[in-house]
Amino acid sequence: MKKTCVVTGGAGFLGSHLCDRLLKEGFMVICIDNLLTGSTRNIEHLAGNENFTFIKQNVVDYLYISGEVRYIFHFASPASPIDYLEFPIPTLKVGALGTHKTLGLAKSKGATFLLASTSEVYGDPLVHPQPESYWGNVNPIGPRGVYDAAKRFAEAMTMAYHRCHNLDTKIARIFNTYGPRMRARDGRVVPAFISQALKGEPLTVFGDGAQTRSFCYVSDLIDGIFRLAMSKINDPVNIGNPREMTVIDFAREIVRLIGSRSRIVHKPLPVDDPKVRQPDITIAKRELGWEPRVQLEEGLRHTIDYFKTHLS
Ligand code: UDP
Repeated sequence: MKKTCVVTGGAGFLGSHLCDRLLKEGFMVICIDNLLTGSTRNIEHLAGNENFTFIKQNVVDYLYISGEVRYIFHFASPASPIDYLEFPIPTLKVGALGTHKTLGLAKSKGATFLLASTSEVYGDPLVHPQPESYWGNVNPIGPRGVYDAAKRFAEAMTMAYHRCHNLDTKIARIFNTYGPRMRARDGRVVPAFISQALKGEPLTVFGDGAQTRSFCYVSDLIDGIFRLAMSKINDPVNIGNPREMTVIDFAREIVRLIGSRSRIVHKPLPVDDPKVRQPDITIAKRELGWEPRVQLEEGLRHTIDYFKTHLS
C-alpha cells in the first residue's frame, strides 16, 4: 500500500516540484491549492496519474481528507513581494489560519508535518550569514510584514503543536529559490531579469544593486525538503544555496548568459528590502547530509530555457 502525502500549495512553483518528487518516491499525493498564485499549468502533466489528486480549496477553510495520511507539506502561500503586497490579508490568513488547519489535519491523521518557512523570518538581518539560532530583525508593520509575521506565527504554531500534541513537525527555512514554473510576472528577481533580458527590455535593478541574495536551484531545494521530512529533526533547518552575490552582478550574469543587449536601469529600492541574505547551512550538511549541487550557471540555463517558452 502506497503512503499518502498532502501538499498544500501543490500547484505553485515549489509545491508542484515537490509533488513530482513525492510521486517519484512512490507516494500517493493529494495536492490542495486555491490557485491564487498557483496554476494548473504546473500540474497538468500529472492529470490522469492514478496516484495524484488535485483539490481546489483554500486551506484556510476546513480540510477534509478521507483515509490515512503519512506526511503533510504546508507550502500554500503567496511568496513573492509583489504578491503579498497585492494579497496582504490572504497572505496573513494562509500563514496563520491555514497553518492551524493543516496542523489540525496532521494531528488528526498522526501525520508528520513540514512547514515551508522562509529566510524572511530573519528580516533585514544583522547577523551574516544567517544561522537558525538567529532571531531576526523584522518590521512587523511594514509592507513585507504580512509575510514575515505570518511565517513567524506559523513557526510558533508548528512548535506549539510539536510540544503540546507531540506532533512530528519540521520547519524548513527556504532561501531564494529559482527554476522552471516560476511565473514570468511574479516580480521576483530571477523571472523578472530573465524575462526582461529575453525581451530585450532594460533589467530593473532596485536601488544600487549592492544588496545580496543567494540563489538555490529548485531540484536542490526539493531534495533538502525531502531529506528533512524523512529526518528526525524537529528544529528549523535552513535550506538554501550559500553562494552569495549582489543583485547588480546577478543582472550582469543574466545578460551574459542570454547574450542580451538589454541595459540595466535602476528603480527605487522597495521598503524593508533586506540588504544581505545568505544561509548558514551547517545544520543541513551535518544532519541531512545535504548541500546544493547545481551550479548557478547550470540552473540558470535550465530556467532560461523554460522562460523562452513561458514568457506570458
Ligand atoms: N530586485 C530587483 N529588480 C527586480 C526584482 C527584484 O533589483 O525587478 C531585487 C530586490 O530588490 C531584492 C532582490 O532583487 O533585493 C531579490 O528580490 P526578490 O523579489 O526576488 O525576493 P526577496 O529576496 O527580496 O524576497
